[in-house]
Parts: sequence; C-alpha cells; structure tokens
Amino acid sequence: MKIKSKKDYMIDFFKDKKNHNREFTLSEYDSEVKKAFEAATGTNKIYTNRTPRNLIRYGDPELDGILKRTKRGNYIFHPGEKFVIKKSPFSDAIKKKIKKRDKYTCQWCGKKETKLDILAVDHLEPEASGGKGVYENGITLCNVCNNRKKNLKISSFGLNMFKKYLEKSKINEDKKGIKFLEDIIKVYNKHKLS
Ligand SMILES: [Zn+2]
Repeated sequence: MKIKSKKDYMIDFFKDKKNHNREFTLSEYDSEVKKAFEAATGTNKIYTNRTPRNLIRYGDPELDGILKRTKRGNYIFHPGEKFVIKKSPFSDAIKKKIKKRDKYTCQWCGKKETKLDILAVDHLEPEASGGKGVYENGITLCNVCNNRKKNLKISSFGLNMFKKYLEKSKINEDKKGIKFLEDIIKVYNKHKLS
C-alpha cells in the first residue's frame, strides 16, 4: 500500500462529502486534518495553514473541484468544478524582450535560464492590483522566487524576510544587525505604498 503523504491527508478533507459546498474555517480544517493525521501516525505535526491559499491560487490535480474563499474569509469547496489557470497577459514577444533585458537571469537569486529550467516573467505590479502585461511591468524570476513573490506589492516584497532576520538578530543579540533591520523596516512603514 502506498504511504500517504502529508498532502494526502489534506486532500482527504476535500474528498469527504460532508465538507462539500459548505463554509468552513481555517481552524476547523486544521483540526480535522490534524486529527486524521494523528490517528494514523501518532503525531499531529502537520502544517496545514498555507495549503488552502495555495489550492485557491494554483489548484491541484488531485483535487476534484475548486476551493474558494468566501466574503467572510472562510473557505468553501465546490466539487466537480474545474480549476482554470489564469493566463499571464504577457505576450510571448514581450516575455522574450523582458528576459533579454534581464540577461536570462532571475532578478532575485541570480539563477540563469537553462534548457531544462525555463525562467518565468512575472508582474512587478501584480495582476490582482491592475498590473499590466507590458514590458515595463515585467521581471524575470526563477520559479522558486516567483512563487515567493506572488501578489506582493513593492512595499511588501521582502518585508517578511527582513522581519524574520530581525527576530534572529535579536536572539543573537547582534546589535548592528538589529539597527540595520529596524531601519529597513522603518522605511517600509514610512512608504505605505500598498
Ligand atoms: Zn530565483
């Protein structure tokens, strides 16, 4: 028998008919998945929080239906509906121009494009906030960095990472680091662009 992955336990939640077409909260989902996981493995160490968001955004081939967010911020699963991938409005010609400008290199981590690893072109200003698929609004990113950046605005991009570094510097009592990071975070707060 195939050993179940952590994700399988989460998918099971959506296979269960009692969770179809009804609103549920993130904590309901979390506790049910944890319960099933603990019953099978003896530990409840399974992190579920990010999954619903990813399922809404990217879908999943194993999910027979689509997950949506309700106005109240809860979730609802619609079985049988097909997930539609939102097409990037960048035309192939514009993508090519952007990649050329960025020297076929991820503009965050510096990874180069190879035949097997094609870089993505993403919106600087996210589509969701009206960013267009035009040359000036494009940036070349590898898939890892692109996933990290998704839907972040200019004034939120990187902020969480700096906050994490600040926590770490505090633990290490790294005074220079703390000062540096606090200054950076102040700049983010000063320019409330989002
Ligand atoms: Zn990258």
